Amino acid sequence: MDDWKPRTKLIHSGARRSQYGEMSEAIFLTQGFVYDSAEQAEARFIESGADEFIYARYGNPTVRMFEERIAAIERTEDAFATASGMAAVNGALTALLKAGDHVVAARALFGSCLYVLEILGRFGVEVTLVDGTDLDQWRSAVRQDTKAVFLESVSNPTLEVIDVKSVAEIAHAKGATVIVDNVFATPTFSKAVELGADVVVYSATKHIDGGGRCLGGVVCGTRAYIRKVLEPYLKHTGAAMSPFNAWVMLKGLETLDLRVRQQASNALEIAEALDGHPKLESVIYPGLKAHAQHTIAMEQMGAGGTVVTLEVKGGQAAAFRFLNALEIVKISNNLGDAKSIITHPATTTHQRLPEEQKATLGITPGLVRLSVGIEDAEDLLADLTRALGAV
Ligand SMILES: *Cc1c(COP(=O)(O)O)cnc(C)c1O
Repeated sequence: MDDWKPRTKLIHSGARRSQYGEMSEAIFLTQGFVYDSAEQAEARFIESGADEFIYARYGNPTVRMFEERIAAIERTEDAFATASGMAAVNGALTALLKAGDHVVAARALFGSCLYVLEILGRFGVEVTLVDGTDLDQWRSAVRQDTKAVFLESVSNPTLEVIDVKSVAEIAHAKGATVIVDNVFATPTFSKAVELGADVVVYSATKHIDGGGRCLGGVVCGTRAYIRKVLEPYLKHTGAAMSPFNAWVMLKGLETLDLRVRQQASNALEIAEALDGHPKLESVIYPGLKAHAQHTIAMEQMGAGGTVVTLEVKGGQAAAFRFLNALEIVKISNNLGDAKSIITHPATTTHQRLPEEQKATLGITPGLVRLSVGIEDAEDLLADLTRALGAV
């Protein structure tokens, strides 16, 4: 099974069949499990085997199928599923850190990830933020006592690509754990572990579901980290993934590769066609040769990803006119969906940030983030071009 190709793993890894031999994965919608005897219950609390469960906050067969399938794709020893992507980010960091520890993080982070770092600061963890694309800043920030480095491999919404391999080398030289939020890279394009990431985190809400239905998250890592560091924290603090959501995510994984590749191919077509459009200040897409980290993106993902960021000339008013004129592309703040989705980060996902921080991160009033879906690229391009005409 280890040498199966990713598409085969996405369909078959982690499968568990009951005595009925059901074809489609079963939803074990149960909180608890019945023991044959008091002695068996006692034994299971001391140590549970691979197919022995205690309580759904600790583990559940449907959730376990999802965890094993994603670990197989990511090529980590183990994984732990969570109620949302943020539960995964919070768990990955908080389970590892204590007061007095030092963390270095890339400054271009999803708003909620920045908030988690703020909370850690309140509990005595020292956080240093760096420009993730500047290796010299990582070199001078990572110290002998740095416990972890945290980064989004491709940043939201400005699509800066961080050189995971070089950052991991810098971190490992000081013994720090490398935690990568890999949502924008997707499990399909991820080579995070090969590049040196110790822990890889996904919001399953995005591409893994792919149909905008359920919240979910997952943390992938070594068995020692997942079972000895992360699991005790997560199972006692309660951010477990529901068995129903795990089932939706399993079904999502079956088509993940097909969807994500189509999305990336649509995204490239759109980015190339809109590049140089008179109504646009810039088109940001790691798949374009002009992107500042194009070479790194190609090395570490082999593609530009599924998101294209556009800067509309004329600031917020122009950006709003553009969004309001779209028909196929929907205004919403999710991403990774089969449907194309557009959002104006400065007034939505990143509204909370102070103006100067928005400016540092490049979140300008004209910036819009387009998550490209699996519709026909020609229809999408027609919709986008027509809406730009309304600006
Ligand atoms: C969406 C997102 C998250 C949070 O995931 P939820 O499932 O919404 O909790 C974390 N990191 C990144 C990069 C994201 O895009």
